[in-house]
Amino acid sequence: MSKLILGLTGGIGSGKTTVTNAFAKLGVNIIDADIIAREVVALGSPALKSIAQHFGKNYLLADGQLNRKLLRQKVFSDETSKQWLNSLLHPLIRTAIIIQTKEATSPYCILVAPLLIENQLLKLVNRVLVIDVLEQTQIARTMRRDGNSEEQVKSVMASQISRNNRLAAADDIINNDTATFAEIEILVAKLDKKYLTLTKMH
Ligand code: ADP
Repeated sequence: MSKLILGLTGGIGSGKTTVTNAFAKLGVNIIDADIIAREVVALGSPALKSIAQHFGKNYLLADGQLNRKLLRQKVFSDETSKQWLNSLLHPLIRTAIIIQTKEATSPYCILVAPLLIENQLLKLVNRVLVIDVLEQTQIARTMRRDGNSEEQVKSVMASQISRNNRLAAADDIINNDTATFAEIEILVAKLDKKYLTLTKMH
């Protein structure tokens, strides 16, 4: 019997963090691709050294940490730089994900990744749970959470897979448009039971 690995994804502001926290409350181990993506370029990491060599020392802040904002701007406007960075970071991120899923101690674990589908992480998971909301909900909630403009949210959405293509990859879907936080906890408890059963058969 091997452990079931669930991939949890959704667009910006869909409710991934909200749903993930509900699973974590039930004791499910969470592997967060965003956290790993930051860890692989932490101070003193070989990847950070490579980035400074490739793009220049001005991509580091005064304290030696990565200047994420500058790097984000660079790769947003330059496809070659984006490819270079992805080919450096993606294998490191995949390796860290695999290690963390092996270290997980709960009966099944969750890999939460906004770009699960876009970054070819589907191969690392056994099932996919998509958190789905209408685009207008996504925009309104993200604007409220981050204080961003509609244009800023839409530009992030444009860099992510379309709602329909994301739903096409789903084994399970949580519709988070009208659910209250209490209702989400009930839905998550139901899914948890299902995953515990599935992991026994896995
Ligand atoms: P993601 O992690 O996918 O970007 P979040 O979980 O941070 O999304 O949710 C985006 C925002 O919407 C947060 O401020 C969160 O509190 C709020 N939110 C999430 N789900 C609901 C819901 N069902 N009803 C009301 N607000 C919600």
